[in-house]
Amino acid sequence: MSTSNDQRRQAAAGLDQLASLVRAQSWSKDLPPTQAAVLRALEGVPAGQRARQLAERLGISAASLSDSLKVLETKGWIERLPDPADGRAAIVRLSVEGGKMAQELLGGEGGMAGLLKRLEAEDLGALLRITQLMVYEAQQQGLATGPRTCLGCRFFQPYATQDRDRPHFCGFVQKPFGDADLRVDCAEQDPGKKQQVAANARRFRQAVPQ
Ligand code: SF4
Repeated sequence: MSTSNDQRRQAAAGLDQLASLVRAQSWSKDLPPTQAAVLRALEGVPAGQRARQLAERLGISAASLSDSLKVLETKGWIERLPDPADGRAAIVRLSVEGGKMAQELLGGEGGMAGLLKRLEAEDLGALLRITQLMVYEAQQQGLATGPRTCLGCRFFQPYATQDRDRPHFCGFVQKPFGDADLRVDCAEQDPGKKQQVAANARRFRQAVPQ
């Protein structure tokens, strides 16, 4: 079946509408989307992260991140500590209260999580697969540099096994896995070289071998 411009427009309209709904919901809680993204990104990172790395992960400017950090600090949701390895840098980490808020954002009923809660593993796998390709496209277009996806990872080997249910292979944990276990934000991710990632993206776009 061919893909028409109208199909792309319909898909883009759907994604834009969902993103707008989630942004509006975030604002209704008096929590701007960038602040919510910072909290979500720091959850599960007890040692914290350098502000510059955080900005890269989120695809936002250092100035925009700095504004959000000031507000989050005022709310008592994050702490900024001196970076022992770099006197001019700061490490950002969640406070206890910030951790509770991040858990609520990640596991709660609101935002995108609320819209995904009835999806079965197969549909989630399809969504995670498409998300990998969309993040890759965003990186190609210079819109994002930092997302820690499988597709951008040097350990990722797409369709490297003969197992239909677990066709991919992670060289970090040395295990095969399926689409439903693709990671969009993996702490163990190590960015692959441009050529490797491009080759993986070509392979990943192909249908699962019969
Ligand atoms: S290390 Fe993480 S990002 Fe890399 S392939 Fe394994 S699961 Fe995916």
